[in-house]
Amino acid sequence: MVKDTLKVLFLAPEVVPFAKTGGLADVAGSLPSALHRLGADVRIGLPYYRMIKEKGIATRIASERLEVPLGHLILRGDVLETETEDGLPVYFFEREDLFDRPNLYGTPEGDYYDNLERFTYFCRAALLFAREVDFDFDVVHCHDWQTGLVPAYLKTLYKTDSFFSAAVSVFTIHNIGYQGIFPRERLPTCSLPSSELHPGGIEYWGNISLLKAGIMYSDAITTVSPKYSREIQTSEYGMGMEGILHHRRTFLHGILNGVDYGLWSPQTDTHVPANYSLEKLAGKKRSKEFLIKEMNLDLTLMNRPVLGMISRLSAQKGLDLLVQILDEILALDLGLVVLGLGDEEIQEAIQEAADRHSGHMGIKIGFDEPLAHRIMAGADIFLVPSQYEPCGLTQMYALRYGTVPVVRATGGLDDTIVPFDPETGEGNGFKFEPYEAKTLFETIQQAVKLFNDYRAWKTLMANGMKADFSWDRSAKSYLELYRSLFKGA
Ligand code: ADP
Repeated sequence: MVKDTLKVLFLAPEVVPFAKTGGLADVAGSLPSALHRLGADVRIGLPYYRMIKEKGIATRIASERLEVPLGHLILRGDVLETETEDGLPVYFFEREDLFDRPNLYGTPEGDYYDNLERFTYFCRAALLFAREVDFDFDVVHCHDWQTGLVPAYLKTLYKTDSFFSAAVSVFTIHNIGYQGIFPRERLPTCSLPSSELHPGGIEYWGNISLLKAGIMYSDAITTVSPKYSREIQTSEYGMGMEGILHHRRTFLHGILNGVDYGLWSPQTDTHVPANYSLEKLAGKKRSKEFLIKEMNLDLTLMNRPVLGMISRLSAQKGLDLLVQILDEILALDLGLVVLGLGDEEIQEAIQEAADRHSGHMGIKIGFDEPLAHRIMAGADIFLVPSQYEPCGLTQMYALRYGTVPVVRATGGLDDTIVPFDPETGEGNGFKFEPYEAKTLFETIQQAVKLFNDYRAWKTLMANGMKADFSWDRSAKSYLELYRSLFKGA
């Protein structure tokens, strides 16, 4: 049966502009709109975190004191409703004791101890709410481990519930490193029967994994780049899930994330000190000067490359490599600006380096969206030396801002960045393969050398600025996938 208007329930633990810790929020903030432009009826659901409450977003009550089973308890919570800018309904699942906290998932010391309860509640509430308001969705599109129980519920608790019988589930892995693992004894919290505790179900090396639940019970699995879809089937990148993913490979699709150019374009960006375009680059120079002053760097750097990095400070992002070679890099007479939040140890290491190199290195520890935009615009080179990178959005943003990416050839970084060849003038950045500080240093050296060749550099910038990674193509792939799941139904 091919339906004209697909109804999609889109569940994610973070969504721009409401709550964000990383790229998943960007995706969940822009993919629904792209699907909507292609004709789908999309509704978004996420927990009602303190971060959202504090934004003072106007909401109305969509469901009052919804009853949600959690283990042997029945919890009650409201569902609040608002809209995206383009009018898509957004549902916030409210429960003060679970979500009214300073952070989304935990503190720099570690995860919240009751994340299982928090996200079990979210998953169960989302399905019960859809039934209550009679949103008979065709597809529930779930994102990362926090939503992994939804496909499991459809295949177990609600298998014979006629309301859900026609619905299919799609589960997207944004990062295989976050697996939602809990002791097996806690299975009753999820209200799943113990018969699901086996290697073909939610069981994972003697524990339970909500990511694995998403992988095993969904009707299709996607991940955020073609390369990453292959990598996660290997022991090097699969983080223990490789066997399961290889087993489920015919259901696994790699669809590259897109960029929301409405938010990330130097021509229209409202956070940058001066707008610019490929034709009128003066604003980039002004943005660089602004960034240099804002980060207390020497103005002599106007003639030298300024390197930028915006990242969660986690081992995944290659900061250990960067820290090893900071002194050498800064000896190349350049500027370095880092914006990040995350592991305390990494924070301290880069803080120490910044203290040693004041005037040439500036850091900001924190989550700062406007500054992220100003770094994109003001830097010349953008670093993404990740150990692994499912898709990576910042390198695609950097391209549009004429800020040349230096990346490691992994996941979506490998799919989107082509090394520049000065002979042909083709390529959009610099790329290195072995995960070694030395190789990163050599690649930065190459970039810094080319920076001195203004004509070649301008060609390289232009190649990046002209590239188009907008959502439309990826959204079409998702829609085709949704439709393919109905074939034969
Ligand atoms: P990941 O999802 O692994 O964190 P992505 O490259 O997919 O990596 O997405 C990162 C997103 O989060 C980008 O929009 C980036 O600008 C943003 N970001 C990361 N750290 C910060 C920070 N400290 N302040 C502001 N934005 C940040």
